[in-house]
Amino acid sequence: MTRASVATSLRLILFGPPGAGKGTQAQMLKEQLGVEHVSSGDLFRHHLSNGTELGELARGYMNRGALVPDEVTIEMVLDRVGSLPSGRGFMLDGFPRNTNQARALNDALLQQSQRIDRVVHISVPDDELIRRLSNRYICRKCQKPFTRNPASGEPPRNCDDCADGGDIYQRDDDTPDAVANRLTVYHEETAPVLDYYRDAGLLDNIPGDASVESVNRAVLDALGLTAEV
Ligand code: ADP
Ligand code: ZN
Repeated sequence: MTRASVATSLRLILFGPPGAGKGTQAQMLKEQLGVEHVSSGDLFRHHLSNGTELGELARGYMNRGALVPDEVTIEMVLDRVGSLPSGRGFMLDGFPRNTNQARALNDALLQQSQRIDRVVHISVPDDELIRRLSNRYICRKCQKPFTRNPASGEPPRNCDDCADGGDIYQRDDDTPDAVANRLTVYHEETAPVLDYYRDAGLLDNIPGDASVESVNRAVLDALGLTAEV
């Protein structure tokens, strides 16, 4: 197996609080490693914008910054993972978000004789997360994150990655109340998942309060892939 094909078959979890930069890093790693990006938040937002039943169910939870119930979340994410071409690696972003989801993921992978290879935890202090989330804008089409221009205070109008200039918007759950709730949920329900992966010897800690490029290098280093990409 070549080194490149080792990267494309990696099964990773990008872990961290809301606003840690998981989405930004995922976009880079997707190109660099050739793995699929599976974001539970993006899957829910897709359902929301298509007005599906699942989207309607998820809306209230998402807008308050609460977790959508496991009964629907686990099935949605595992279906997506199960639909990837066999042998194709993936990067989970936003899932698992509690220990029940982590166990369900583990069981589903074991049934396919698969396992998670690495968990990359990007950590950022709460005050920096609050600052980032209140300045965050997103492309409706490709989900690429943007921030306000520091000089003008304005967000960009169009996405530079989308050929027809995808529309930029601010998420309904990036309001101060929802952000505060998401951070509480993260510390109470999601952070304990770290112990699960630490005990399994799979965890890498990366300080995320640094430039996008240096966090990207640190992630590649942690995966032992610096030389290949
Ligand atoms: P962020 O990481 O910025 O908080 P996401 O885009 O990952 O946001 O998720 C947005 C919202 O979607 C969450 O606040 C939650 O309501 C819902 N959600 C996403 N992933 C999960 C999950 N694994 N379990 C339950 N709810 C989830
Ligand atoms: Zn875009």
